[in-house]
Amino acid sequence: MLQEKIDHLERLLAENNEIISNIRDSVINLSESVEDGPRSSQGNFSQGVGSPLLSLTVDPADCLFASQSGSQDSDVQMLDIYSLIPFDNPDGGVWKQGFDITYKLSDWDTKPLQVFVVPHSHNDPGWLKTFNDYFKEKTQYIFNNMAIKLKEDSRRTFIWSEISYLSKWWDTTDKLKKDIIKSLLGNGQLEIVTGGWVMPDEAAAHYFAIIDQLIEGHQWLEKNLGVKPRSGWAIDPFGHSPTMAYLLKRAGFSHMLIQRVHYAVKKHFSLHKTLEFFWRQNWDLGSVTDIFCHMMPFYSYDIPHTCGPDPKICCQFDFNRLPGGRYGCPWGLAPEAIYLGNIKNRAELLLDQYRKKSKLFRTTVLLAPLGDDFRYCERREWDYQFKNYQMLFDYMNSQPHYNIKIQFGTLSNYFDAVDKEIGASRTNSQPLFPVLSGDFFTYADRDDHYWSGYFTSRPFYKRMDRILESHLRAAEILYYFALKQAQKYKISAFPSSSSYMALTDARRSLGLFQHHDAITGTAKDAVVLDYGIRLYNSLMNLKEIIGSSALLLILKDKQSYKSSSFDTLLEMDLKQKSQGSLPQRDTIQLSAEPRYLVVYNPLEQERSSLVSVYVSSPKAQVSASGKLVEIQMSAVWETANTISQTAYEISFLAQMPPLGLKVYTLLDSTSSHPQLAEYALYNGNIENKGIFNMKNMKNAEEDITLENPFMKLHFSQSGLMEEMINKEDGKHHDIKVQFSWYGTTSKKDKSGAYIFLPDGEAKPYVYKTLPIVRVQRGRFYSDVTSFFEHVTHTVRLYNIQGIEGQSVEISNIVDIRKEYNYEIAMRISSNINSKTRFYTDLNGYQIQPRMTMSKLPLQANVYPMTTMAYIQDAQHRLTLLSAQSLGVSSLESGQIEVIMDRRLIQDDNRGLEQGVYDNKITASLFRILLEKRPVVNMEKEKPVSYPSLLSHITSSFLNHPVFTMTEKRPVPTLQLLGEFSPLLSSLPCDIHLLNLRTIQSKKDDKYSDEAALILHRKGFDCLFPSKDTGLLCSTTQGKILVHKLFNKFTVARLIPSSLSLMHSPPDARNISEINLKPMEISTFRIQLR
Ligand SMILES: [Zn+2]
Repeated sequence: MLQEKIDHLERLLAENNEIISNIRDSVINLSESVEDGPRSSQGNFSQGVGSPLLSLTVDPADCLFASQSGSQDSDVQMLDIYSLIPFDNPDGGVWKQGFDITYKLSDWDTKPLQVFVVPHSHNDPGWLKTFNDYFKEKTQYIFNNMAIKLKEDSRRTFIWSEISYLSKWWDTTDKLKKDIIKSLLGNGQLEIVTGGWVMPDEAAAHYFAIIDQLIEGHQWLEKNLGVKPRSGWAIDPFGHSPTMAYLLKRAGFSHMLIQRVHYAVKKHFSLHKTLEFFWRQNWDLGSVTDIFCHMMPFYSYDIPHTCGPDPKICCQFDFNRLPGGRYGCPWGLAPEAIYLGNIKNRAELLLDQYRKKSKLFRTTVLLAPLGDDFRYCERREWDYQFKNYQMLFDYMNSQPHYNIKIQFGTLSNYFDAVDKEIGASRTNSQPLFPVLSGDFFTYADRDDHYWSGYFTSRPFYKRMDRILESHLRAAEILYYFALKQAQKYKISAFPSSSSYMALTDARRSLGLFQHHDAITGTAKDAVVLDYGIRLYNSLMNLKEIIGSSALLLILKDKQSYKSSSFDTLLEMDLKQKSQGSLPQRDTIQLSAEPRYLVVYNPLEQERSSLVSVYVSSPKAQVSASGKLVEIQMSAVWETANTISQTAYEISFLAQMPPLGLKVYTLLDSTSSHPQLAEYALYNGNIENKGIFNMKNMKNAEEDITLENPFMKLHFSQSGLMEEMINKEDGKHHDIKVQFSWYGTTSKKDKSGAYIFLPDGEAKPYVYKTLPIVRVQRGRFYSDVTSFFEHVTHTVRLYNIQGIEGQSVEISNIVDIRKEYNYEIAMRISSNINSKTRFYTDLNGYQIQPRMTMSKLPLQANVYPMTTMAYIQDAQHRLTLLSAQSLGVSSLESGQIEVIMDRRLIQDDNRGLEQGVYDNKITASLFRILLEKRPVVNMEKEKPVSYPSLLSHITSSFLNHPVFTMTEKRPVPTLQLLGEFSPLLSSLPCDIHLLNLRTIQSKKDDKYSDEAALILHRKGFDCLFPSKDTGLLCSTTQGKILVHKLFNKFTVARLIPSSLSLMHSPPDARNISEINLKPMEISTFRIQLR
């Protein structure tokens, strides 16, 4: 067995002899410790177990990237801009947040002003109404009328972005209308912009899900319309992330537009004419990520704020607000229909606005969007807008002294005209547009109204979103492998088609939830429920796909996969009973007959992780390949101080191949020797102790402590962490965890779903009596749980020599349903001298340095955290890793604070017309990682920073937990393999397999032979020690040999593609070696056999 293992490892890592010898030694050590160590060392917590101590091999060349990047300068670095802007908010006159714009009539003497008026309609896939209700009541009419009204006059144009709506309409409309739409796309009257499933949120959305909904939209377009969007259109997301710019660039886009940017930044950019720029990634060493970006200058994307600086004037050119209609102009002046008698006057009034707006840009081309939310539903609105504007255009174009050329256009018409001007000016040495790096958070639309509340709003669903993402990815990968095996072994019983349809459905549910009113938590209660049900149903379906695919892959005799009851023979043991409840573990019934427990490692590296399941017997025994496995047995708690008499938790260390399955057997055996966890309860009393050793402690005379091979933690009497001692150097760190409350301001405008308007600094969370504190000490993990009124807080330390041992796990169950106008935060304080600098991730893809600024209100210093935030000084970095998106800040040196839930009774006047008080009992999961920084030059702060490899991998563990499955009911005849290992070896440590996503068939609703293999090479900081990470992988300068990739499959074809499969590079051909640059995400079309 041991020899087999060594051989296996040898094959895996044939390229690196040094690692192999390490592994050989370590595997021997490990097996010795498993055989001899544990039973005699029960209760000895200083000796860790787990994967062997290994030095991670990092190719020195892989360190160059992080050390070099950030040294090149952009013309505009957003961090610097924030230092420059006074944020004084003076009254700018008609353009309240801007300034008076002047021009000379001669400004257009040499080159006329070229105006593109771009009609559009912003359709939220759910907000005040559900997606279906909006479609029924509004959106379907927009499409129906579009077909008629655009066809009437070939000069009319329109743009559309949300494919979720277009595809729904497509399924219900007739061929005649479909043909009209195709011809409108063909002749350029209609343009699809961005073309994602939704217009995603850019703060809380993870890059996995953003990419997935982009692919879903683009795949739908490819199949049904054959069009390839080339311009990005994001007018409503509440702040903008450079991750989106990167993803669009990699999808083959050359231009994009953004709108919701802090009003003071807009003003600054308007003054410097930098509203149009090349957006470059902070990490880019050259200019390969540059994408042309247009920032809309004014307050909103509605018509009053898009023709020019004066909304009072512009509103009069929204002909849907003509007197007698449903809408009017709040500025007191109504639109007038255009006729011969007023046309000169009206044309000149509008022209003045266009000219003023044009002075904010560097070209003579002007973009004038013409639309609003759910516009162009009624046929007469099309007539009002298009006819009146056409009269204005005809008149303006007929007046040579106006020096204007004005017409309807699409977004790309505008960008093409700008490109033409860039081309014409290329003779000058000075580039026409600046290069900008950084992001556009945190958004404020007026005064001190910062949109940092939505980073946390409805956190229950932000957590559920991440769980769905990990399930979707796991199901995609297992499904493609199973599909290939089903084809190979001709297993017709494998539900290839129904599973693919369920996968498609899940992609679309997740995609819909990335909408900027969904994951943001800014929709009405009923709409939130609608999203929740979609997420929940998809989660259930994905569990079935994972189960049925895993079963086929792990079956010894594939031909035995026939019974219809095999659909979900392997069932996930973690169950969520309804859309609004927390996942609960099922209890696995044990008997003397062994039953299978199949574990799936969704990560692309070999992994050693603790697996925990509930079983029905205290005499549980676990084995793998006939060998007993050491287990920790813990009590299952029904309340803080009562244990279940029917269920027990067993935990054991599972060794799993990359992306692979491993089979364990469970049974009830009188000869089992589980290592029972021990308990101490403070400030409470345990009555029935069952089989466990439990002590009721009167009051804690000594500190509560936990320790593992890496660290020792000290806790206060209320169970809150106060100190961390690093065992390697004996250093003490004051790392304190505390809770606090924010109230909402007493001023008129208060916090709501979008906006955070606190009543000053957070107040400490106070409790009159000490909470019950339960301490558990076990072989594989130990933890301290405190039962506060509003939060059940658990700090867990894994007694494992691998990844899981090196950080502290924190899980909170928050319940603030009895409070009003409160937000609850968890604050980590430390002696790290971080001053005002901290770091947050953007979309789980990259790190953005932040600066806490005293010139800004507290709520402006809150940023989105998708997967991590860290602070550092010359010696240490402290990272908070997160398994859900939440708002985070660092208001004092040494602090990281995360807002975990908010309950607000009032609307914050952004259209939602309700507060957020549908709170649920909400789980959140974190890890705290303290790392030493050996040699750091703190003098020059770069605008870029990278996590260590350990931090990246810890984040992967947190976001991609191991899946455990068992038989629905024991089937005695079932024969499973010991493991299924689809990869020849672990992928390099810095490479993440983002997805292996089966591509749709072009003919029907089914799957094709191909999958999209999406790989991300992470950027990492080499200055952190990488030894003892417990990882069996190395880095290889981004190179992977294709024939060394898969174990059970042959790569028939592997062809590079653009990110969303829309484009093939001109030299696309089958490749034998994958080469990834740091930070790059690359998609390949792969065909396995
Ligand atoms: Zn919207």
